[in-house]
Amino acid sequence: MIIILRENPEQKQLENLVSWLKSMGLDIHYSKGVNKTIMGLIGDTASVDMDLIQALDIVEKVMRVTEPYKNANRKFHPQDTVVTVGSGENEVKIGGGNFQIIAGPCSVESEEQIIEVAKAVKEAGAGLMRGGAFKPRTSPYSFQGLRGEGLDLLSLAKKETGLPIVTEIMDLSQLDLFEDVDVIQVGARNMQNFELLKELGHLDKPILLKRGLSSTIEELLMSAEYIMSGRNQNVILCERGIRTFETMTRNTLDLSAIPVLKEKTHLPIIVDPSHATGINSLVKPMAMAATAAGADGLMIEVHNDPAHALCDGPQSLRPEQFADVVKAVEAIRPFAFGVQQ
Ligand code: PEP
Ligand code: MN
Repeated sequence: MIIILRENPEQKQLENLVSWLKSMGLDIHYSKGVNKTIMGLIGDTASVDMDLIQALDIVEKVMRVTEPYKNANRKFHPQDTVVTVGSGENEVKIGGGNFQIIAGPCSVESEEQIIEVAKAVKEAGAGLMRGGAFKPRTSPYSFQGLRGEGLDLLSLAKKETGLPIVTEIMDLSQLDLFEDVDVIQVGARNMQNFELLKELGHLDKPILLKRGLSSTIEELLMSAEYIMSGRNQNVILCERGIRTFETMTRNTLDLSAIPVLKEKTHLPIIVDPSHATGINSLVKPMAMAATAAGADGLMIEVHNDPAHALCDGPQSLRPEQFADVVKAVEAIRPFAFGVQQ
């Protein structure tokens, strides 16, 4: 971190700043120009509050030269992280060249629905299944999910198909119910629920962390850092579209987030073209684009009867449409950015 001081800084304030920085274990390198002094902070500045320093009268500007995230930072962990999900013959790996597709309905609705969809997506090539039991809906009058019963139905579908389960947690009080869940999803709306992230950091279970609706890439990485600074290093990031001024799509898929994240972090990055677009006809082109841009996987909503889905029907693919997307993605994958030929 670099601090540029204003001309002729008030001595007492400067001394206070210096002793405060030193009390945090930092060394200071001074560079004195004709009019201005620049202070270079040496040491771990992750916990230094930049805004507090910027607010001081004697300070003109503060800049970070290293990122505030450590565990998630590729600089300190150059090799790709490979997250292992499940065990035995149902074990799947994501990251480090391992590409996975997670597929299933937005919400678990009934035994017939989840079993039928789970079997169909497995047949088409999905490595994991999804299905929401606890649903974060904008309206309290919309279907809220089958909750505990939904998790039981997911377990049943896992028994039938062997596919590991990915499902969303909305509150810590639900954690005890998640024992049979293989990947705990933290949805976009909870990306900055820091207490939840901290608790998930104490588990070993993989966490799928979705980017917040209006969150920057750095904020996503700081949320991953919350989980990783516990002991849980099994974090998978998910780009799922962000809010922009565009109204033709539900969100705007930030495809450039994939190569940016690849550069900044060693964690696997998957893309959710369903929530990113909100329109089923756009899922295939965006799934292909995300794969070409180097994503480590995809999360796609699939429903056996989208017209009657209790949640997100318009963006859901029918099983045969999903199978077609899988084929297109598999054809692109060997030529994807960052994949060794
Ligand atoms: C979901 O994946 O079911 C979901 C609610 O997505 P998001 O949190 O990205 O809106
Ligand atoms: Mn959905």
